[in-house]
Amino acid sequence: MIPLHNLPASSRPEPSVTCDTCAAKCCRLEVMLITDTGVPMRFIDEDQWGSMTMARLDDGWCAALDREMMRCSIYENRPLICREFEMGGDDCLEERNAD
Ligand code: SF4
Ligand code: SF4
Repeated sequence: MIPLHNLPASSRPEPSVTCDTCAAKCCRLEVMLITDTGVPMRFIDEDQWGSMTMARLDDGWCAALDREMMRCSIYENRPLICREFEMGGDDCLEERNAD
């Protein structure tokens, strides 16, 4: 699997934590779109107040996740929140340890 969140090796706090050994668990989290990064409209949910989030499937995974490869299918256009999600950070570790 190609890492979802590439970070320089020097900034990885926990060497054993890598996207290569994780089935994109953070891609089940709600992702708000706070900037326009070119996410295709078919992957966007918009509520009645105009707030936009990444669409999720019934099982909770982001609609833009390539389920065969378990990698982001819109990596170059992924939302800012996904770009800033820190591999090996607290949120990452919490998701990895969740069911
Ligand atoms: S939860 Fe962490 S290790 Fe897993 S894909 Fe996301 S950033 Fe990578
Ligand atoms: S946009 Fe890509 S990186 Fe972000 S949650 Fe969806 S599949 Fe994961």
